[in-house]
Amino acid sequence: MTFVMVGGRLSLDFVATLTERRHEPVEQLLEPRDLSTWAGEVALVDEDLDVSPDELAEARALREAMHRVVLARTAEGQLRAADIAALNRAARHAPVALQLAWSGGLRRRGDVRQVLASIVRDVLELLDSDQLARVRECDREECTRLYVDASRTRNRRWCDMAECGNRAKVAAFRRRQHGWDERTGPLWTGPPVPLTAIRGREEPLRRSEVVPDP
Ligand SMILES: [Zn+2]
Repeated sequence: MTFVMVGGRLSLDFVATLTERRHEPVEQLLEPRDLSTWAGEVALVDEDLDVSPDELAEARALREAMHRVVLARTAEGQLRAADIAALNRAARHAPVALQLAWSGGLRRRGDVRQVLASIVRDVLELLDSDQLARVRECDREECTRLYVDASRTRNRRWCDMAECGNRAKVAAFRRRQHGWDERTGPLWTGPPVPLTAIRGREEPLRRSEVVPDP
């Protein structure tokens, strides 16, 4: 498995082929064959796709339109007529064809246009579903992956605990090590401060009383 699939929807996993959008975007669909690999890994098609550079560019543009529309419907962002038109255009094509094999399994066949149609149909269904209210962006600020929070308590914070959850925790730990606590601000690192005038006591305030330890 080359690609991370944590979105809970085909379309969100496709949108997640570009991450860290607000910082230095990380593109995973670098070459035409990457789109073919992705379609194989999500089991959209059984055979390799023949992808031209133009089709890759089209797929990326469609992906960004999908991202903007989902953001506009769930968080911040403006709904653009051009993005809606792009989604509707792609959705007009037939999706990947499913065929029942004699052996009992399914065969999935299609070209790039059909693959994109299948992905766009998924995002259109998401936009019209109750799941839309559960779409979240990963809490690790740099990540920017979107996912459907299917947790019972609706408090999932990260797209992927192993990747972003742990990285966020390590980053928070490092900030605390360097005298910064994300909840309380700078930690006191100087000598103990006598606050008898304030507290009316003789002994210096212990560090743990200056700011609560996390
Ligand atoms: Zn993440």
